[in-house]
Amino acid sequence: MANPTHLSLRKAIIAACLKMNELGINQGTSGNISARIEGGFLITPSGIPYEKMKPEQIVEMDLGGGYFGDYLPSSEWRMHYDIYLNKPEAGAVVHTHSIYCTALACMQERIPAFHYMIGVAGGTNIRCADYATFGTQELSGNMLKALQGRSACLLANHGMICFAKDLDKTLWLAGEVETLAQQYWIARQMGKPNILNKREMNNVLARFKSYGKQSKDLAKGEALAVEPPPRRDAPKATANRTDAKSSGAKRSTTKGSGRAKAARKPAKRAAKTSRSTQEPAA
Ligand SMILES: [Zn+2]
Repeated sequence: MANPTHLSLRKAIIAACLKMNELGINQGTSGNISARIEGGFLITPSGIPYEKMKPEQIVEMDLGGGYFGDYLPSSEWRMHYDIYLNKPEAGAVVHTHSIYCTALACMQERIPAFHYMIGVAGGTNIRCADYATFGTQELSGNMLKALQGRSACLLANHGMICFAKDLDKTLWLAGEVETLAQQYWIARQMGKPNILNKREMNNVLARFKSYGKQSKDLAKGEALAVEPPPRRDAPKATANRTDAKSSGAKRSTTKGSGRAKAARKPAKRAAKTSRSTQEPAA
C-alpha cells in the first residue's frame, strides 16, 4: 500500500500503542487498538511489535467484517468490530492484558463500587465477561453482554477491553481501569472493602456527566460536577451565573457531606455500615 488512506489516524494508532507500552498496560503484542473511520475502522495488525509497526501495516476493515490489504488484522478484531456495530458512541477501542485487570479477570470477578471512580466506565461496577476462547464470536458476544451500559469490562481469564469517543480518551480509560483494578486488589489484601451503595453511585454518575469540564464547556442546564470556589475577578453577569450553578451543586454536596462524616466514624461502625450498603449482586 504505497499511499494509505487516513495516514494521520494510522500514525495516531501507532503512537497510542507505544503510549500503551509506556503506561505499562500492555504485555508484548497482546494489546490491540482500533479507531473508527467512515464505514469501518482501522485496527492494529496481528503479531507486529509496535516499535516496528508502519502506518501502512495498520489494517482497514469495513462494517461487514471484511479487511483490505496484505496484513491480517489483530486476532481480536471481532471484539473491536462488535463494539463499532453496537456502540455508536465508540470512536476507538483498546484491548490489553494489563496485569491487575487480568489478575482479577482470572478470578472471574467484577470490580464493585469500592471507589467512586468506578463510574468512569459508566455504571456501578465493571463487569467481567464470561470466559470463551480468544478470537471467537462467543467471546465477543460475552463481551457485549458485560458492556451493557458500560464502556469497559474485564474478560475472564484473558484481560480487559474498553472504548471511548477517541484514541486519547480510550487510552486514558484503559489506564484508569487498570489503576482501579490495582487499588481494588490492594484493598482486598487488607480485608473486605466498603462498597458504595447504588444511591451514592447514581449521585456520582450524574456528576460524572460534567466531570473534568470547564464552565464554558457546560451544556445548557448542566451544572459543574462539584461546587467551584468563588471567582474573584469575575464580571458581574458571569458571577451571578456561577452563583446560580453553585447553589444547585451545593444542595447535593450537603447530602454528600453527611456521608463523608459517616466515613470518618470509627472503623467498627464503618464495617457495620458496609454490610447494609452492600450492593446486591446483579
Ligand atoms: Zn487478548
